[in-house]
Formats: sequence, structure tokens, C-alpha cells
Amino acid sequence: MTLRIGCTADDFTGGTDVAAAFRRAGLRTALVFGAPDDTTVLPADCDAAVVALKSRSVPAEEAVADTLAAQRWLWTKGAAQIYFKYCSTFDSTPHGNIGPVTDALMDSAGATVTLHCPASPPNGRTVYQGHLFVHDQLLSDSPLRHHPLNPMTDSSLPRLLSAQTRHGVGLVGLATVRRGTEAVRDAVLAHERAGVRHVVADALTDDDLAVLGAATLELPVVAGAAGLAEGIGHACPGTAPATAAPRPDRGRAAVLAGSCSARTLEQIARFHAAGLPSLHLDVLAAATGRDVAGEALAWYDAQDPALPVLIYASASPEELAAVQAQLGVAEAAAQVEALLGTLATHLVERGVRRLLVAGGETSGAVTTALGVRAVLVGEEADPGVPWTYATTGHGDLALMLKSGNFGAPDLFVRALTEAK
Ligand code: ADP
Repeated sequence: MTLRIGCTADDFTGGTDVAAAFRRAGLRTALVFGAPDDTTVLPADCDAAVVALKSRSVPAEEAVADTLAAQRWLWTKGAAQIYFKYCSTFDSTPHGNIGPVTDALMDSAGATVTLHCPASPPNGRTVYQGHLFVHDQLLSDSPLRHHPLNPMTDSSLPRLLSAQTRHGVGLVGLATVRRGTEAVRDAVLAHERAGVRHVVADALTDDDLAVLGAATLELPVVAGAAGLAEGIGHACPGTAPATAAPRPDRGRAAVLAGSCSARTLEQIARFHAAGLPSLHLDVLAAATGRDVAGEALAWYDAQDPALPVLIYASASPEELAAVQAQLGVAEAAAQVEALLGTLATHLVERGVRRLLVAGGETSGAVTTALGVRAVLVGEEADPGVPWTYATTGHGDLALMLKSGNFGAPDLFVRALTEAK
């Protein structure tokens, strides 16, 4: 098996996002959770593999080491090109990690030039004259200027990158992009001859990203958000799209929710409103040693096997604050994650074959508990929320992992009840 593209993503949600993009472009795509090793098995015959790391906000040396290890592993699987996926709002500190990670990937690949484009037109992220826009605002005028970890107070990508690398940074403007693939390729080569190593490219539309994708197919390292990944995917011949969404009658179906985000709370409310069975977990009781997981499983066993069930720790802001005040934030999260991990294992043992998990951290806890290291990416139920397929000790499992704010309000009901 030879991969066409190996990708490292700098956070878990970004990993799902970019894997869904490669798959949309027609590539058979695998998603690997966390640093892979010799024991990590990829699904057969993939065109692309994405390693989802947590390297966005850690110290730069750590981000570099983790990403280089992923690059080496992707090379052992045959990856001809490495795509470095970062956030479409270029989330980074004044000194990293985008510059240091890209430089390290290029050094180890012997690359002399790379192209960057974080544009993501469906999400309103566009790049013009090297400036990043969020809908109709410059990045630095958008709410991202108040981001809690990485406030973005400059919109100029060449300036932001220049602060993160000692190498030259150049621009391929929209006029060149609109002249097509050859023009972009020539412009990148001209920059390379002039000693420029990082080339930022403008893009306003998916068509622009398709041009950039075709122009960068031969570069050993390319960097950006999910949009350029999709452009590259369209430009390279894929095998076949992964399996379609699982049919509603394929095994029992369950949702495990640990996200307390507004969208997840809405999705829970819609599940109730549809008259489907649900159970709220008492986190405080679990902390006092009550067998809350055992009680939840007894409840599950009493439900109609034809219906999807929802088991959730998710709480309103008031309830969350009360639990956290009593247990502390870390202990509360640990209780919830242990509970949901245990429940996932037992539900799969009991025949659940379609499992939807709500919450980024919660998804990590569930995949770890299930021993799932890599999945094959399937059809999206909503943008950026694909079904994925894993093999467990109990057979095949269709798994949907969504970050808290993702998916339409009816996602839980639709994904688990709608006939295809
Ligand atoms: P999101 O993707 O919305 O950020 P996460 O799963 O990443 O969702 O984060 C939600 C966090 O809230 C998790 O750490 C989870 O353990 C915690 N949590 C969920 N329910 C409760 C609760 N009832 N009490 C305390 N903490 C909770």
C-alpha cells in the first residue's frame, strides 16, 4: 500500500476537518488519533492518512518533535507529500508553531520551497494580498483578536510567518492565481530561485484552491487549512470514496455526550423532542462512588433495541458551574471522561455498532477506552462531521466524533434514524 498524501494536523478537530476534506475530494482517507507507532495499523489501500496531533499550543520544540515523528511514520507508509494542516485563522503564538514546524518538515524532506494558504471559503476565511479575512473583516478586526490562547492582532500572513522563521517569505497574489496552475508554479519557482522559502498564496474561492492544489502536487511539503487539502485532493487521482454512511438498521445505535457547548445542548434537546430515550449521568453521584455506569447500563438494557439511545453528562452552564465548584474542574472532567469511556466499552460489547460521540475531549476519552487508534473516513453527516469506521475486538464500528459546536441541531436524530 502506498499513500499519496500524509498529513499532520495540529489539533484533533482539525484532523477530522482535513480528513473529511481529502475524502470529499475522492481520496480514501484514514485518520490516526495521536502519535502513531509500529503497532498502529492503517485501514487498507488508503490514498491519504491524517495524523491528528495536539501541537498547536504546546512549546515549539515539542510540536516539532511530535510532527517530525509523524512525518517519519507517514513516510514508512509511502507518503509522497506531507501536508501540514493548521487552523484557517492561522492560530499561533508570535514565535510558533506554524513557522518552526513547517521549517522542520521541510528540512527533513530536503525541501527548498513550500506554499501556505489557510483559506477556507465555506467558513468565510479568504486570503487577499496576503491578508487573512474572516468573512468581511480582517483577521485582526475579527473576534479572533480576543482568542483566549492565541489572540490574532495582525492579518498579514507574510508578516506573521516572518516572525516565526528566519527564512524568506513571499507572496503569490490573486492575479497570478487567476492565471492558473502554470502561472502559480512559475511564481513559486521564481521565489525559490530568489531564496524565498515560504510562499503565501491568495485564494478567495474553492476554484482558487484547486489551482493552488494542482500547482503544488510536486512539492514535498505544503501547508494550510482544509481548503487547500481539498484542492490537492482534487488534483491527484484517488481510488474510491470510503464506504457510505451506515444504514440505521446496522446494529444498535447510541450517542455519548460530554460536550457542554450550546450546540450539543440543542442537539440533546432535539433528541428528547423526537421522543427518543435518553439518560442524564449524575456526575456528583459518580464522584461519591455510586455505580453510575452500572445503573446506566441497566437502563440501556431495558430500552427498545430498535431505537437509538442517548447517554449524556453534558450540563447547562449553571449545572456545570455547580459540579465544578464541588469537585474542581479537572476532577469533574476526569469523572465524566472515565464514565463515558467505560460506557463506550460496555455499549460496544453489548452490540452497539453506530456510536456518536459529542465533545473533543470526550472523543479522545472514548477512542482511548475503545483502543481505536485509526479510522477510515466516510460520508459526512454535516460539514466537518464524517462517519468513520473502526475495527474493534467486537467487530466493525461506525463512529462519529464531533467537536461540541459542530453539526446541525437535528444531527443526533438524523444521523441515527434517517434511512439512506
Ligand atoms: P467540547 O468539544 O464542547 O469542548 P469536550 O468534550 O472537549 O467538549 O469538553 C467538555 C468537558 O466538559 C469535558 O472535559 C467533560 O469531561 C466536561 N464535562 C461534561 N459534563 C460535565 C458535567 N456534568 N460536569 C462537569 N464537567 C463536565
